[in-house]
Amino acid sequence: MKFSYSSGQRPLDGYALKRGIGKGGFGEVYFALSDGGKEVALKLVRDDQQIELRGVAQCLNLKHPNLVALYDLRRDARGDHWVVMEHVAGDTLNVVLSRHPDGLPRELAREWFLGLARAVNYLHDHGIVHRDLKPANIFIENGTVKVGDYGLSKSIGTSQRTRQTESIGTVYYMAPEISTGNYNKQIDTYAAGVILYEMLSGRVPFEGESSGEILMKHLTSPPDLSKVPAEWVPILAKALSKNPAHRYASMADMARDVEAIGRERAAPAPAAKKVANAVPIPDVRPVGRVLRPQPQPEPVLTVLPAVSRREQIMELCGSMALTVLFTALAVALWGALSANITVARMSGLFFLTVAASWAILIPGKFWTERRGDSWARRIAMMVLGGLVGLVALWLEGWSPGIDAGLVGSGDAGALGSIFPRQVALEASFFSYYALAFFALRWWRMTSRRRPQRFSFAPVLAAGFWGVVLLLVVRPQSWPSAVVLVLAAAIVQLVSPWEQPPPPPSAKRLRLRYA
Ligand code: ATP
Ligand code: MG
Repeated sequence: MKFSYSSGQRPLDGYALKRGIGKGGFGEVYFALSDGGKEVALKLVRDDQQIELRGVAQCLNLKHPNLVALYDLRRDARGDHWVVMEHVAGDTLNVVLSRHPDGLPRELAREWFLGLARAVNYLHDHGIVHRDLKPANIFIENGTVKVGDYGLSKSIGTSQRTRQTESIGTVYYMAPEISTGNYNKQIDTYAAGVILYEMLSGRVPFEGESSGEILMKHLTSPPDLSKVPAEWVPILAKALSKNPAHRYASMADMARDVEAIGRERAAPAPAAKKVANAVPIPDVRPVGRVLRPQPQPEPVLTVLPAVSRREQIMELCGSMALTVLFTALAVALWGALSANITVARMSGLFFLTVAASWAILIPGKFWTERRGDSWARRIAMMVLGGLVGLVALWLEGWSPGIDAGLVGSGDAGALGSIFPRQVALEASFFSYYALAFFALRWWRMTSRRRPQRFSFAPVLAAGFWGVVLLLVVRPQSWPSAVVLVLAAAIVQLVSPWEQPPPPPSAKRLRLRYA
């Protein structure tokens, strides 16, 4: 890279240039030492660039831990301007992101985003719109985010803006309304949303071959939010709204929602309340501290589906088809191993297991999980369990062979002493499956975010409840418990699973990003 000045030169009184750091849209950046020994970064803004530097002057006295400090704005003997600023030793966010093609650990993305949001909110509070937020202008130093290049882009003239729109690195973060020329601080919210999306997924929401194609996507295409973890979807949907009026009213509001994700995941409720009341935007915390190992998030915070409705339906069809296959295999294996099982009983077992598994899979796919809806789900599952019981009854009437197996001895059990035999029989079928579906949190077995793809614990729990209910709700016989055990195993096998991200290790991350 060719720089205008070489090491040792002193184009600006009071500073000796040490080396060129890089070149950007506005000029060259040098690492320099002041005569007093202070390390600084000097940005040369050439006079011929028609950049109005009033914005920088306006920012000279701003102070924020997440902003690159501006020390001075000077003019050299040739008439060129120099922005004297804090020299940041760390990498820029785009360098860090390039090392993480699948996105950053979520806890880290959250903390860095909060640093960015605090800085941008501070700028907005002081009447400054950044206008050029992008990972290349965000530094990470000792785990702390520092936003740079503010004030400078605020005063870009039209010709510069045109030139800048040609830079593809900038277009990725450009709000749709920029093309209309009528915009406000909401363009920073949009850019922050793009950066958050990129930190979480490793990719920008709109890619393309040319600046024009990307700009067109900003204007017309909805972002594909299935690429980001589900609990972040509502935040990103709002920040990336095409209509600026639908975005967050302030970066503080957006930061509050991001902060709430971490609170829900990690902190007990009362402590979280205290933090929320104390400060509108959380204080700066060193990354090392925040990244202490936290309890693994409960996999029940999905607010919106991570996949589109069409994909959900396709997945469900696949899971239901696989259920039929696995059940057929299990029942066939049973038939091969058992000497005295009848075909009628095998077919009863097959149909009931498929019905029970489908009754678990279907609501599991469409009822997105929210904290605290466990009882509502249990009751809904109880009703579905009752329907499975009716299928069992129907099967019993449909095939006399099953009558012998499933209904048992003909004694109507405990219910038989209260109700007529037929009613007691129907009630026993209904209540056996209703109670079994109520007793377990079946939807967890199908959750995309379950801790393991397959676990024996729910299978054992299903077996336990199956046997306990056999004793409580007679007359039933052992195949009913087998149906529950098979369903618990099969729904896990056929449900899609995403490996949860490993918990961030404080030491490893601190070393890597220090
Ligand atoms: P843009 O002109 O759109 O901001 P850019 O960020 O790539 O694009 P510059 O801001 O001119 O370009 O920065 C040029 C190089 O100098 C980049 O590599 C940047 O990381 C580095 N740089 C800028 N400011 C500082 C600073 N205060 N401390 C250390 N390095 C810096
Ligand atoms: Mg820059």
